[in-house]
Amino acid sequence: MTGSGFTAGDYARRRRRALADAAAAGLAGLLVTPGPDLAYLTGYAPHLSERLTVLVLTGSAEPTLLVPRLERPGAQAAPGVPGVALHDWLDGTDPYPLVAGLLSAGGRYGISDAAWALHLLGLQRAAPGTGFASLTDALPMLRAVKDDREVELLAAAGAAADAAFAGILAVPFAGRAEREVAADLADLLRAHGHEQVGFTIVAAGPNGANPHHDTGGRVIVPGDLIVLDFGGLRDGYGSDISRTVSVGPPGPDQIEVYQVVQAAQQAGVDAVRPGVPCAEVDRAARAVITAAGYGQWFIHRTGHGIGLTGHEPPYLVDGEAAPLVPGMCFSVEPGIYLPGRFGVRIEDIVTCTPTGARRLNTASRDLHVVG
Ligand code: ZN
Ligand code: ZN
Ligand code: ZN
Repeated sequence: MTGSGFTAGDYARRRRRALADAAAAGLAGLLVTPGPDLAYLTGYAPHLSERLTVLVLTGSAEPTLLVPRLERPGAQAAPGVPGVALHDWLDGTDPYPLVAGLLSAGGRYGISDAAWALHLLGLQRAAPGTGFASLTDALPMLRAVKDDREVELLAAAGAAADAAFAGILAVPFAGRAEREVAADLADLLRAHGHEQVGFTIVAAGPNGANPHHDTGGRVIVPGDLIVLDFGGLRDGYGSDISRTVSVGPPGPDQIEVYQVVQAAQQAGVDAVRPGVPCAEVDRAARAVITAAGYGQWFIHRTGHGIGLTGHEPPYLVDGEAAPLVPGMCFSVEPGIYLPGRFGVRIEDIVTCTPTGARRLNTASRDLHVVG
């Protein structure tokens, strides 16, 4: 997360809020292992390991980060670690009783979803009688509301993905395999500042009917619609954009379906405002597609949150009653997937502002013709 520009004070504020949310959820504290939650709360992003690293947040003691002794220098250098007590343990000793000593008997703690079973089993052995809950189940919105700096980073990642899309319009499509275009997309994402390419879906012709098509050797031909869905991490924050392009002039049925998806995407974005349930964005986009007679072919959710990871709460799905809050950042990505024929998806990342949606992808959503 180098270059992200968050201060020790930012991380301390996040930890205080996480603890308050945990208390409100009936938890005695949180146990956070390496992954996005640890990066969010300390700025520390170590590699995953069988050696236990865990941040212990409780109401009764200062925040404590327990690391293997050999990792101590790396932990010490993390921007949010000055605000926590750093403890270490040595190879050949048992670290789990050290954690158990920080927990209150009979308490229930939220633990990172990504914690290895090995670690959770070690904690259960050392602290019998302690309860554990999925951190994401208990505090789904922990990282969902972004601060101004996070929105800025997501906007920069979005602008970089837009620039990659502008670049891909200039490459040849017809006569090349999907995976060659995907390689171009990966190069473009890196050229525009991504340190990590997450995915580069190139789904040509009938392959576009599979929302998660595994990009492969199919050779692109004139008349194909191609779903392009790509993104990764830039300065630690995610990008994710989908555009559908036509190889040569599109046919009337392709234009019709495209226009329905374009209108659905606009309806989803227009539904965004504070206090509106997440499900309402899904409903608004789905209503357009259903009214046009394609409802059964909209087989993917309307959207997902994005931040330090590519997919995270909030989810824009039927039944999600959680209200939108200014600062939430998520995709709006309706699509129509016609088996054996073609697919269309249009996806932007947007952020909820006090007055409605602001798009973090601004690349044209018109149907582009490529060569
Ligand atoms: Zn998907
Ligand atoms: Zn996507
Ligand atoms: Zn997405």
